[in-house]
Amino acid sequence: MSYSASISSRSNSFVADLRSDTVTCPDPGMRGAIESARLGDDVYGEDPTVRALEERLAGRLGFDAGLFFPTGTQSNLTALLSHCQRGDEAVASANSHIINYEGAGASVLGGIALKPVPVAPDGGPCADAIEDMVNPDDPHFPRTRLLCLENTIEGRAVPVSSQQNLIATARMNGLAVHLDGARLFNAAIALGEEAADVARGVDTVSVCFSKGLGAPAGTVLCGNRQLISSARRWRKILGGGMRQSGVLAAAGLYALEHNVDRLSEDHRRASVLREALAKLPGAEVADVPNQTNMVWLTLPERISKDLAVALADRDIAVRSGPRMRLVLHRDVDDAALEKVISAFSEILPRFAAEQKVAGAKGLSLVPE
Ligand SMILES: *Cc1c(COP(=O)(O)O)cnc(C)c1O
Repeated sequence: MSYSASISSRSNSFVADLRSDTVTCPDPGMRGAIESARLGDDVYGEDPTVRALEERLAGRLGFDAGLFFPTGTQSNLTALLSHCQRGDEAVASANSHIINYEGAGASVLGGIALKPVPVAPDGGPCADAIEDMVNPDDPHFPRTRLLCLENTIEGRAVPVSSQQNLIATARMNGLAVHLDGARLFNAAIALGEEAADVARGVDTVSVCFSKGLGAPAGTVLCGNRQLISSARRWRKILGGGMRQSGVLAAAGLYALEHNVDRLSEDHRRASVLREALAKLPGAEVADVPNQTNMVWLTLPERISKDLAVALADRDIAVRSGPRMRLVLHRDVDDAALEKVISAFSEILPRFAAEQKVAGAKGLSLVPE
């Protein structure tokens, strides 16, 4: 038996871990690709596997060049630092990862103001609001320099036509455009578009390999030569210059080859789960167009916590909260999905009934 086949590809014992699509572990095929990767020192530009991944993704998306990062956060941060100077401002939709989940790194390390834009019904930022938010050239204001888009955003694919409209708005106002495409391939598959068409017209796009694509780490930022050369300098400053990082890039190359088309399976299972949960009492299931591998439930906070505990008893991991996000990925197959659905079917109606009793007794049902 080969070295790679002898190791379990799963690290945990969950029936299903629905907290995120980052929880997947490399399967034997990916481990084999890692094992046989050709390596060199990438700070010297000598890792052939890293270069191959950068070129492969940039070519596929229609950009001059790519740059490999350990994480999506560092790739987004580098993009912002490459587009903006101190005292500049980047706008991004209020629900975006850059605004909410990256520690305001661009402000902390780059002196860049981050301005949240109201969310449009299709999930992206509202184009009219962007127009209103661009500051006039006046020393009172930060210079509005960059529009950050995200696709998918909260698991929804933003249609190419809306994105083109946003890009046109940015251009009319002299803004550069960065696309956080952590799940760009999920967006492309859900919209029935080529990934290159989802990334068309932006200056930089960041694509993660560690989400649904199943690699242990790695993100590639694509852009023109000048931007990527500036990004290379920033990446080094941020401590992201890695050496034999081809061990990670090999997983990315493997993922591009083997794990892109199968994202549609995650989308299919998410819609099966969505439909099953919508039939149950006790939770409100988000039903909006262009959803991908996520299911969103709105629950009273207390129910959400109890539900998470009851699911954990059945080895199903979820993150509790008033908006519970369930994420499908390559380590949740049809058999696991069936177990998830039967667990929810058993637990949720019971909680809903208890909630009704509480309501009848005049206890608060508002989310807390
Ligand atoms: C996960 C994610 C990131 C950041 O990636 P990390 O590798 O976790 O730093 C950025 N943007 C979006 C939309 C993401 O989902």
